[in-house]
Amino acid sequence: MGTLKVHDLTKTYGETVAIDHLGIDVRDGEFFVILGPSGAGKTTTLKAIAGLIEIDEGSVEISGIDMTQVEPYHRNVAMAFESYALYPQKTVAQNLASPLKSGRHARYSEQEQTQRINDVTTTLGINHLLDRLPKELSNGQRQRTALGRVLVRPADIYLLDEPLSHLDAKLRASMRAELKAIASRSSTTTLYVTHDYQEALALADRIAVLRTGKFIQIGTPEQIWREPIDTFVARSVGQPEINLVDAVVRGGRVRALGGGIEFAAPAALGLTEGQQLRVGLRPSELMVNREVHDHDWLRVAGRIRLTERLGRDVELDIEVGDGNLIVVERADRPHQEGDEVMLDIHLPNVHLFAGGEPDEDTARLGSALGHTAAPLPEALEEEVGE
Ligand code: ATP
Repeated sequence: MGTLKVHDLTKTYGETVAIDHLGIDVRDGEFFVILGPSGAGKTTTLKAIAGLIEIDEGSVEISGIDMTQVEPYHRNVAMAFESYALYPQKTVAQNLASPLKSGRHARYSEQEQTQRINDVTTTLGINHLLDRLPKELSNGQRQRTALGRVLVRPADIYLLDEPLSHLDAKLRASMRAELKAIASRSSTTTLYVTHDYQEALALADRIAVLRTGKFIQIGTPEQIWREPIDTFVARSVGQPEINLVDAVVRGGRVRALGGGIEFAAPAALGLTEGQQLRVGLRPSELMVNREVHDHDWLRVAGRIRLTERLGRDVELDIEVGDGNLIVVERADRPHQEGDEVMLDIHLPNVHLFAGGEPDEDTARLGSALGHTAAPLPEALEEEVGE
């Protein structure tokens, strides 16, 4: 249990600004996730909070106490790195017990230690491995043991740096659910960093999207998904990435893909004749031949160019107007290359962004229905509610 307040946190390495005036306010018991690509500054942020690197500017307050000048050892944070070190000559049980035998935690009785170790190893599914040495474990088991070494210690804040990165996909999904369960059961305050948007959506109470040392948007998983502040955030969540196509306002209508997509310009956004835009369409929110004829749905004609099976789903590359859109559909629906199809698109799912150069990220203006946010898709509800 604890809170974390970070102001103006800045760290440079020579010419590189690794983190740039970051502000974070993590509430007691919150699971806060920083999502960002490689090199965005995620690890630097955690190290700065833990006191493992000297910062250039800013302050760190933990549970109401200014810790900016305090040694790491006294900050009462527990940090797990992506690459974990275990004592090779100690068993799993001994590895887990060692954080409880040193420093401020040395006060734990043998019985309390055993209880804490039991709780953590049961949750992490490694209690049958207590007598093994690290060399007798798989990589995934080693990663879980190392995570256990962090979670076994009581701390104000848990700082977790991609703790699931070495696990295979199936184990990662089940550990994701376990971590969420541990966090809500023990009401720990967690700051978790990852480049995996699914992990962020599934685990977070709130997500901060980090790009080259700056937060672009902070919000709930729903807000990040439904109302991404710009094209960078929109591209950061969802696989395959959101389709972004250039568009222009002509005669009060938004036209994209050479007229392949066209709809009335939403009055609430105050768009002007000739304004350049980008239309954003998530592959999972484009539906093929659903025969929806409701007023806030759009029907668009296309032809399937390519199909690629992705397990339960199929990825379709569909020619629309003078371009193409990527669509993810359920694989149990009949789709053949060359088929003429109709795409059914719910207008609140059509994001409108300002126009820009191909490599430039631009702001979201609203949806094709004005300021109405996109509804939360079922798949995301499952992830968010996991
Ligand atoms: P990844 O997901 O790849 O681990 P990250 O988001 O954790 O990336 P950081 O490791 O925080 O990113 O790095 C942020 C930036 O700071 C990068 O440009 C990196 O090259 C630079 N950087 C990090 N540590 C150092 C260092 N010790 N010396 C010089 N530059 C560094």
